Amino acid sequence: MLTVTDLTVAFGNTVAVRDVALTAASGTVTGILGANGAGKTTTLLGILGRVPRRSGTLTFDGRDVTGDDTGALVRAGIALCPENRRLFPNMSIEDNLLLGAYGHGRKVRRERLERTYARFGWIRDRAAEPAGRLSGGQQQGVAIARALMSDPKLVLLDEPSSGLSPVAVDEIGELLAGIAAEGTAMLLVEQNVRLVRKLCSTAYVLAHGRVTASGPVDELFDDDSVSDAYLGKV
Ligand code: ATP
Repeated sequence: MLTVTDLTVAFGNTVAVRDVALTAASGTVTGILGANGAGKTTTLLGILGRVPRRSGTLTFDGRDVTGDDTGALVRAGIALCPENRRLFPNMSIEDNLLLGAYGHGRKVRRERLERTYARFGWIRDRAAEPAGRLSGGQQQGVAIARALMSDPKLVLLDEPSSGLSPVAVDEIGELLAGIAAEGTAMLLVEQNVRLVRKLCSTAYVLAHGRVTASGPVDELFDDDSVSDAYLGKV
């Protein structure tokens, strides 16, 4: 689905991501793990062209999309569910959702909303309320639903468990597992080891902007040098 090679992102003289190569396959959740500041968020933003790439090639859905800008990548089927959810708290939940289908005509936006409401009955019931009135877990659900509004083949998720209660994390895990089961690919930046173990088949470990380990999640967590250094104990 997505193959990235040789991705390097620098901010001035600071190289935040260096020579990263990764793949994400349909129907699977691929983890990106690592300590704070390791370059996880920058990797996602680099894929989407939201930060300047110094180098890197991207193949998505069988096509070279290296030169595509963010808008073209979204239209091609890549969606971002950003760190800290980034909802507009004073806007209605429905208007927040509609931002995920920005650029589409009224008919398509309506169809996508209906599909969202069919999946998330509780969101339909509260669609007119300001998004800021929801709990953290509900806001994360809306942020994921907003990403799905662009009808993506690949969703880039940045720390969806952040700040949530264990129960809410489990609910988000169920939601993401269901989305993957429908064939959507996901790249998941996550510090919550339990969630990674539940969702991810394979993962990449980043340290100081480089991939330092990768492979099946169980093997990564069994490797003491990897788990001690970067992942914390379960
Ligand atoms: P966290 O879990 O804390 O979000 P992360 O692994 O996502 O960490 P990044 O946010 O990708 O890490 O940051 C990687 C490095 O790049 C850090 O040293 C950070 O300070 C730097 N960096 C990120 N964004 C910028 C920017 N816009 N300008 C300058 N430096 C940046």
